[in-house]
Amino acid sequence: MKIHEYQAKELLKEHGVAVPAGVSATNTENAVKAAEEMKENGATLFVVKAQIHAGGRGKGKTKNSGVSGVILCDTIDEVRDAADSLLGDTLVTVQTGEEGQKVQRIYVTDGVDIEQEFYLGILLDRSKSKNVIMVSTEGGVEIEKVAEETPEKIVKEWVEPGMELQHNQARRLAFALGLEGDAFKKAVKFIIALYNFYQKTDSNMVEINPLVLTPGGDVMALDAKVTFDDNALFRHKDITDLRDKSEENPVELEASKYGLNYIKLDGNVGCMVNGAGLAMATMDIIKLSGGDPANFLDVGGSANVETVKNGFRIILEDENVKAILINIFGGIVRCDRVANGVIEAVKDPEIAEKVQDVPIIVRLQGTNAEEAKEIIDNSDLNVISAVLLKDAADEVSKVLAA
Ligand code: GDP
Ligand code: MG
Repeated sequence: MKIHEYQAKELLKEHGVAVPAGVSATNTENAVKAAEEMKENGATLFVVKAQIHAGGRGKGKTKNSGVSGVILCDTIDEVRDAADSLLGDTLVTVQTGEEGQKVQRIYVTDGVDIEQEFYLGILLDRSKSKNVIMVSTEGGVEIEKVAEETPEKIVKEWVEPGMELQHNQARRLAFALGLEGDAFKKAVKFIIALYNFYQKTDSNMVEINPLVLTPGGDVMALDAKVTFDDNALFRHKDITDLRDKSEENPVELEASKYGLNYIKLDGNVGCMVNGAGLAMATMDIIKLSGGDPANFLDVGGSANVETVKNGFRIILEDENVKAILINIFGGIVRCDRVANGVIEAVKDPEIAEKVQDVPIIVRLQGTNAEEAKEIIDNSDLNVISAVLLKDAADEVSKVLAA
């Protein structure tokens, strides 16, 4: 689960991680009020930041007013203009895709003077089964680019899950940033507090880019991208409450209501599969056959009429879908039952209308696979059967070429 920057910073503050002061607002009036209060407390620079669940805001642009998603303001009037421009407009960044994301909320922060920008990230390193803390002096830029071009500029420390980050590890990381004296001590404290936050909240990614050193020697997080492990959310009611469903893909949200594991992709072949591993393999085979998967969809263990129907509904919401490949392994479920389920689902008037021009290829393998093939072949519906995955993939190529 993702949260907004303003929420992340509030949580970080509670966990003793240094962040600049800030107030979130959904209208210009409140944004201006927040800036005025900051000014009374001595602020001379304000930053107005679009709150969307995507990064790259600083380099992004809004569709109508053409402003960046992160606007530095010297005066209250500039804050007002920035808020007016951002709120209600659609921000397009490298992470939102062309359609962009509507800005419904902004965050007004006490602007910080920057002496140096760094990168700091914490996530799970699956290859080592450990958490990894990464720092780099190349802050403010895309870390993927640093990793590709100058990997030696990223310094890492690993921690066994459940263990604490050792003081000497935090010191090595702060040292790698070239810090000395008081700033070094502050960075060590920052890194330890941030790691504790990551552990305690069952986060699976914390990215601070940039982490900054101010001319006054302070070390703080100017940006914060935090995601949480969905499977651990039941332990954190307060964090679960921070979920902003309006930022999530509406179809993915609907799928989660049905208990379907769906992720939208950009291709043209919809797929419906039981089991995540098989779903991955199915996406590979679609690629090999010259198609492009339109989605990942794992319908789980029981492929009954209801799940198949819901699967169709979800897949068919995507207008790019030119064909659907259903790939079910009948281990516990019998293939003939699944075949009957597919046929019943396709007869559903709402689905029937939508699949008129979308050929469906069904590959059923496992218990009673032959009977299942017969059931499909004997139906007079626009459904093509296959037993081997390769044959199913060839059928996909054929219908795409037709
Ligand atoms: P992102 O583009 O979505 O990653 O948003 P960031 O929060 O990282 O902001 C983008 C950039 O704006 C940062 O890399 C900084 O260079 C700049 N920026 C953000 N906040 C401040 C601030 O308080 N003071 C100054 N001087 N620059 C800031
Ligand atoms: Mg950033």
